Amino acid sequence: MLFRRISQEAAAIFLANSQAIRKMEENSRLFMSLQIYSTLSGKKEEFVPLRGGEVRIYVCGVTVYDSSHIGHARALLTFDVIYRYLKFLDYRVIFVRNFTDLDDKIIRRAQEEGTTSEAIAAKYIEEFYQDSHALGLLRPAQEPKATEHIPEIIALIRRLEEKGMAYQVDGDVFFPVERFPEYGKLSRRKPEELEAGARIEVDERKRSPLDFALWKRSKEGEPSWESPWGTGRPGWHIECSAMSTRYLGQPFDIHGGGLDLVFPHHENEIAQSEAAFDVPLARYWIHNGFLNVNHEKMSKSLGNIYTVREILDLYEPEGLRHYFLSSHYRSPIDFSRQGLEEAEKAVERIYETMDRIQRCLPTPGPSRPDAGILEGFRREMDDDFNTPRAIALIFDEVRSLNRLLDEGKTAGLAARSLALRAVGETLGLLQRPPEMFLMNRRERWIKKQGLSHAEIEDLIRKRDRVRKEKRYQEGDRIREELRARGIVLEDTPGGTIWKVK
Ligand SMILES: [Zn+2]
Repeated sequence: MLFRRISQEAAAIFLANSQAIRKMEENSRLFMSLQIYSTLSGKKEEFVPLRGGEVRIYVCGVTVYDSSHIGHARALLTFDVIYRYLKFLDYRVIFVRNFTDLDDKIIRRAQEEGTTSEAIAAKYIEEFYQDSHALGLLRPAQEPKATEHIPEIIALIRRLEEKGMAYQVDGDVFFPVERFPEYGKLSRRKPEELEAGARIEVDERKRSPLDFALWKRSKEGEPSWESPWGTGRPGWHIECSAMSTRYLGQPFDIHGGGLDLVFPHHENEIAQSEAAFDVPLARYWIHNGFLNVNHEKMSKSLGNIYTVREILDLYEPEGLRHYFLSSHYRSPIDFSRQGLEEAEKAVERIYETMDRIQRCLPTPGPSRPDAGILEGFRREMDDDFNTPRAIALIFDEVRSLNRLLDEGKTAGLAARSLALRAVGETLGLLQRPPEMFLMNRRERWIKKQGLSHAEIEDLIRKRDRVRKEKRYQEGDRIREELRARGIVLEDTPGGTIWKVK
C-alpha cells in the first residue's frame, strides 16, 4: 500500500518535472531571438522588426570609380550573410544597396581618362557585378543609382529648405548642423569633438565647419541637373537619404555599412532624414570592422591594395568567405595571404567530408535535416551574427561525421549532411558539389607542380596494373613518386582516388 502510494507520488513528480522541462524548453525557444549590436545605442539589442515578418535593410554600396578591393569584399560579405541569415529566420527581407555613381572621384577619373563619368560608372558597375557573382553574393531587391534619383533628391532638399534646415549660398545648398541638436548621436560625440577630430572641408561660405553640402553648383564639364538653385549636382550624403526613403520608407529596420561611414556619412544621413521627416531614419545601425593589410591601412600610396579579382585569381571564393567569417564582423581583420591559404584548406576539409558522405550514400533518400547542428547554429548566429562560433560548430560536426565514417556507421548521416549544407548555405558556403570544389583546388595545385591530370591518371593505371601482377614494390614506388609531388593516393572500394596533400 505504502509502496504503491510512493510510486504514485514518484510518478506524479516525474510527470510534473517533465512538464516543467517541456515548458522550459518551449520558453527558451520562445526567448531565443536575434540580438543585434547597434552602433546607435552602443549595445546589443533584441531585434524586433517594425512590420511583423518583414525586414527592411539599406546598405551603402560602392562608389564606382575603381575596381573593388578586399575591404569592399569584407563589407559585402558581412551584409550578404546578414541578409541570408534573416531569410533563414523566415523573414521577408527587402534588401537595398546603392551604387554611388556620381562623385568627385568619378569625375576626376573621367577627366584623367578623357571620358565621361557615365562611362566610368558603367564600366565599374559591370565589373562590380562580375566580382559579386564570383563572391557568391545574393542580389539585393533594389540597387538604386544616385543619377537615377535626382527628382527624389531635389524634393528632399526642398523639404529641408521649407523647414529651415537648408541654406543656399551661390548655387550651393548646405545643411545647418547646429540646427539639428542630435547631431553626433551615432558616433556618440559632441559636434565640438567631431569638429576637432575630423578633416573638414574649409569653406568660408558655410555658417559652421560641420555643415555639409546637400547640393553643389556644377563646374564646367561636370555632370549637372536643373534645380531650384541653378544647375548642379547632389552632395554625397543626400542620395542615401533619398533612396532609402524611396524604397523602404522611414523609419526602416536596419541601416548598414563599413565602420568608416559612421562619420560623417551616416551621421549626415541621420541629420537630413530626421530633420525632414521628424521620425528616426533606421532602427538598428550595423557597421563592419576595418580591414588592414599586414598591420597597415590599405592605401594606394603603400601599394598594399588587393583587388577582389586579384585575390580570386589565386584563391577559391569560398576560401575568402570562410576567412572573413572566421572573425566577428565587428572585429578588425589584419589580412594576410597565409591566413587565406589556411582558410581555403579548412573549406577543403569540409568538402572532403561531404565527398566521403556522398560516396557512402550513393542514393540519398528523402530526409529532413538533423535538428542538432541547426539549433546550435541558430543560437550562435542569434548572438549578433557570431559567425566564428558558427564556423567552429561546423568543424565540430565535421570531426564527428568523420569519426562515424571511419567506423563505417551510416545511420543519421544523410540528415546530418543535409543540415550541414543548410548551415553552409546560410553562410554562403558549401554550395558546390564537393567534387567540383576539390577538382578546382586540385587543378590549381597540379598546375603549380607542373603536372597534368592525364599524367596522374596514367600513373594510377600503371600502379593498378603492376599491383595486379603482384609487383607491389613497383606499385609503392609510383605511390611515393606522386607523394613527393604532393599527390596522395587513397585506395577505396570504388577504386583509387587521388588528392592534393
Ligand atoms: Zn550611404
